Amino acid sequence: MLVRLENTTKKLCVIGDPVLHSLSPLIQNTMLSALALPYLYLCQTVPKGETAEWVKCARFTGYAGFNATMPHKEALLPLLDHADEGVLRVGAANTVCIKDGELYGYNTDGPGFLRALAELDFHPGGKRILLLGAGGAAKAVALSLADAGAREVVVCNRTLAHAQTLCAHSPVLRPAGFSPDELSREAEGCGLLVNCTSLGMAGTARQFETLSFLSALPAGAVVCDLIYAPRETLLLSQARALGHPAMNGLGMLIHQAILALEHFTGLSLDAAEMARLVKKALPNE
Ligand code: NAP
Repeated sequence: MLVRLENTTKKLCVIGDPVLHSLSPLIQNTMLSALALPYLYLCQTVPKGETAEWVKCARFTGYAGFNATMPHKEALLPLLDHADEGVLRVGAANTVCIKDGELYGYNTDGPGFLRALAELDFHPGGKRILLLGAGGAAKAVALSLADAGAREVVVCNRTLAHAQTLCAHSPVLRPAGFSPDELSREAEGCGLLVNCTSLGMAGTARQFETLSFLSALPAGAVVCDLIYAPRETLLLSQARALGHPAMNGLGMLIHQAILALEHFTGLSLDAAEMARLVKKALPNE
């Protein structure tokens, strides 16, 4: 990838801790290079508790914007001058633009997931959906599914109290437990299952106790895993073996990045073309 540097090149960045494994610089620089835009996208480790210090540095050194991952998404909230509705609903920001010294915050998690889902030709309107997990990603995805017209989103989580807190944000959301029996019961009649837990993620030995709940899904139900490392989790391979259309978290990651670049540049991008370019540039694993 060719990055042309001028003294006026605008700086973008992803912050987090850990963050050095992030695919965002590769994704963003691929798009910037293809579009010949005068930006460079970097990667910066910023430890927990240092969000405000980073914001001061980013303003002073003239960053045009940045993305934030763990542990800064919530900590950014009180530092923003302007927060869009998604940020206020989810209580976290992952994209920040800096214009005239002021911080504009956005959350692209939910919209990125919906765009990825649309690639599978799945539309949540009127559907019953089973969502596993009640953490930050689950909240963004659940609220975007509710906003997109889902009839019911059942939020199953290991810690029931976390599911109950999340579900208080919309009447379409309903909390439930995480036992194999409960998961199977709730899977019945669902057109979509989304795993928003970290079960099956690379670097952790934790897996679902059983995937028997997949057998309770109706034929043709779509199964999504937000995880993209590994590309194929046990959940996804088992779902495919049962004949379900399945999708990993790469599409969500890519569409979030496209939305973030639209915020940074103010341009409206050809999302399908950008996604095609980025998928080609990413390593297979
Ligand atoms: P998080 O806030 O830490 O939430 C983790 C969730 O997993 C919680 O609901 C937690 O349940 C559950 N969990 C953890 N260990 C479990 C276990 N042993 N058994 C059952 N449930 C367990 O994390 P997050 O930020 O929401 O991220 C969740 C996943 O989404 C991660 O794998 C992350 O990589 C992925 N993600 C992908 C994208 C993308 O663009 N594709 C974006 C964001 C996140 P408790 O409430 O009981 O602790």
